[in-house]
Amino acid sequence: MTNTTFDYAVVGVGAAGLQLALKMIDDEFFKDKKILLLDKDEKTGNDRTWCFWEKGDTIWDSLATKTWGKGLFINSNECISFDLAPYKYKMLRSSDFYSYAKNKIQEAENITWVKDEVEKVGGHQITAASGSYEASHIFDSRIPEEFHKKKDKYHSLIQHFKGWFIETKEPVFDPETFTMMDYRLKWEGSTSFTYVLPLSKNTALVEFTLFNDQLLPDEEYDVFLKDYIKQYLKIDNYEINEVEQGLIPMSDYPFHKHHSQHISKIGTAGGWVRPSSGYSFKNADRYSTKMIENIRKGDRPEKGIATSRFRTYDSIFLNVLASRNDLGEEIFTRLYTKPKIQSVFRFLDEESPFREDIRVMFSLNRPQFWKAFLKTFWK
Ligand SMILES: Cc1cc2nc3c(=O)[nH]c(=O)nc-3n(C[C@H](O)[C@H](O)[C@H](O)COP(=O)(O)OP(=O)(O)OC[C@H]3O[C@@H](n4cnc5c(N)ncnc54)[C@H](O)[C@@H]3O)c2cc1C
Repeated sequence: MTNTTFDYAVVGVGAAGLQLALKMIDDEFFKDKKILLLDKDEKTGNDRTWCFWEKGDTIWDSLATKTWGKGLFINSNECISFDLAPYKYKMLRSSDFYSYAKNKIQEAENITWVKDEVEKVGGHQITAASGSYEASHIFDSRIPEEFHKKKDKYHSLIQHFKGWFIETKEPVFDPETFTMMDYRLKWEGSTSFTYVLPLSKNTALVEFTLFNDQLLPDEEYDVFLKDYIKQYLKIDNYEINEVEQGLIPMSDYPFHKHHSQHISKIGTAGGWVRPSSGYSFKNADRYSTKMIENIRKGDRPEKGIATSRFRTYDSIFLNVLASRNDLGEEIFTRLYTKPKIQSVFRFLDEESPFREDIRVMFSLNRPQFWKAFLKTFWK
């Protein structure tokens, strides 16, 4: 296919691109628009599991593998339980989301899905392995090369993890309660923890996670997972049914500078990952809704997205964790247990009023925070 022209093109249809495409399908404004979706993959397998919190029942409940109303936060000294109401923590397997989205896309006559590797995007033009395409506006979810070259000039960490979906003979899990973070087992001197998402009394996803600047050799994650399951879950006999592994960049790099007249960056590439937490699936929901509203109003699609005061808080947060990675246990204990969990969720969802932000930030009371705070605002 060469030089085919579209109204909108989405380059990379993962979490962000698909959510944007689904919202276009549901909106009258786009019914007569020609939309191109391009991805190098088929998007069929289960390449990740998304977790997020939200209030009430939404479209995601029918797709979710599991939801929880209660959580635990565990550190070296205590185990704190919290009731999430009115929120629920939800787990969605990417394969379920991809097949749901692909079905809806197949039914939409104005959408063309092409499997192709994109090499370059500039102006209205997309150059891909098997041809070129044109669109009035392009939504691009490829991470800019410049990020990889320059990320060290910013406050940047990597959230990296490996998880096992395990199955036990005995009923050992409480399927109503998930463990958000357990800091009892750590890679020395780092922000590292395990989380546990029980799917039933006999099955759970157990994942060892680090927020730091260095990946581990693959077998190290396994050592931690094995230790955690034996020492803390007290399980000797189990089978590993599936493995999940990945990394998420957490950085205050200014992704927004890669937007241009006819191109809006989206997803991780658009700065949609909340740099202090690594969560972004719900942001993709929120931000793609906002993009649709902006387009309808004739505004820039990315207007008001991922540039709020919350990015300044995240930068302070990353600054502290990057310089004192060993403080993670204390900082996250304060973050998740000093304010009410509902306040923390509102803060991470960028929905809290300013006075609540201050309360959440004050709960992190450590000299390193005040230093980073002053450095940020004194510039
Ligand atoms: C294993 C894993 C687990 C995660 N868990 C959570 C979680 O629990 N909760 C949460 O909120 N966030 C989570 N995240 C973070 C974040 O939500 C995901 O990374 C999310 O998928 C990011 O969405 P995206 O659209 O930016 O990128 P992706 O979903 O990765 O989509 C990018 C798409 O672009 C395509 N692409 C890339 N380059 C090209 C090219 N040159 N040509 C054509 N296509 C291209 C890729 O094939 C892909 O389909 C997780 C991330 C990973 C990796």
